[in-house]
Amino acid sequence: MLNKSSFFKTIILFVLLIVFVIGTSLVSNRIWSGKPKEIQEPNELIIEDGMTIGRFGEVNKLPNPVLKEIFQLQSPADRQKNLSQYGSPDQIRFMVTGEKANASEYEIKNWKKIAVKFILWLSFLIAVFFSFIKRKVTRKKRLWVLFASVVIFGVIMGSDPGPMGTVKDAITLYGKSREIFPPRLVAMTVFLLIVFIANKYICAWGCQAGTLQDLIFRLNQNDKGNSIIGRQIKIPFVVTNTIRIIFLSVFTLTAFLWSYDIVEPIDPFKIFKPSHLGIIGAVFVGVLLLGSLFIYRPWCHLFCPFGLAGWIVEKFSRVKISVNYDTCIACNKCAKACPSTVMSAILKQDKKTIPDCFACYTCRDVCPTNSISFSSRKRTTPPPGHFDKAGKV
Ligand code: SF4
Ligand code: SF4
Repeated sequence: MLNKSSFFKTIILFVLLIVFVIGTSLVSNRIWSGKPKEIQEPNELIIEDGMTIGRFGEVNKLPNPVLKEIFQLQSPADRQKNLSQYGSPDQIRFMVTGEKANASEYEIKNWKKIAVKFILWLSFLIAVFFSFIKRKVTRKKRLWVLFASVVIFGVIMGSDPGPMGTVKDAITLYGKSREIFPPRLVAMTVFLLIVFIANKYICAWGCQAGTLQDLIFRLNQNDKGNSIIGRQIKIPFVVTNTIRIIFLSVFTLTAFLWSYDIVEPIDPFKIFKPSHLGIIGAVFVGVLLLGSLFIYRPWCHLFCPFGLAGWIVEKFSRVKISVNYDTCIACNKCAKACPSTVMSAILKQDKKTIPDCFACYTCRDVCPTNSISFSSRKRTTPPPGHFDKAGKV
């Protein structure tokens, strides 16, 4: 039966959360706004017949370090070399655009802030890991940890960097200019390494957009894990993953063929940079966050490029959710409590593909016989007939 006071409380908390995130992010953006935020699109390059490298640099206002990098200049005398030696005008335009894009990336980043954010990420994840390792995660505690993650990594430290951006921006930059931005590669490696070590721990507790969706989903649950407003649904993984693969393919194709980033206008991380959300973005993010009340992490399951990359790496994770069938009584409580379809697949080991597991501990905490662990224990298959006595999930 619908509990009216919980219903209104959930709506009010949802609205307050969104207003809080937008309002405080605007303030935070103002405090951090010391550097230009956007990469400037390069101007149309001027290339004339018989032009030397030096003249080309002057006319197009290219700084010497950029010229040196593009044309591999060894000495000042190299500036007198003829531009045509280095390729056709189109090839030169391509080389310059790529180098300028890379130089702009270095210029716009606030490196101190990024270093602090990574230190905070690692400390936060380690603290969560050890504080959750044995004790039950109460609903209240979970909500506060998720909220803390949203505030620290989203509101205070901003939308960039984030796990998704490392994959998305790497594909976009390479598609547009065949350039690789090494620091981004390092960040992506760190995030994927975390997945390799401890499943999707970074998504579960550190990703600013992921924890916001998670928090909203759990705000719409009571202490027993039942939904308060409407019905929370689990979309079959084959559907969500197919959409995610198609989305990534279209995104990659448009980046390579038309140098266009289709995620940019609808990027949910921009909730932490609200002034950069256009009308389409605001509508999309609004629907996404509203949808998070009923579907667990819709962005992660349906669209996120890192979500897909992380799901592949997850297959090799050292620490993950596993079941001890010696003590499991096949009650299915874990699969019912899991916010997605993954626990059912892990529990029964009857599907070839195991969906994304967000290392949220929900399944572990509802198990009446402590048969579920988040550890380096190997996943095994249940003994034949183990679930015959249990109902279907
Ligand atoms: S899958 Fe979700 S939690 Fe993970 S990076 Fe993407 S948005 Fe963040
Ligand atoms: S409930 Fe368990 S299986 Fe489901 S996402 Fe959370 S940790 Fe993974």
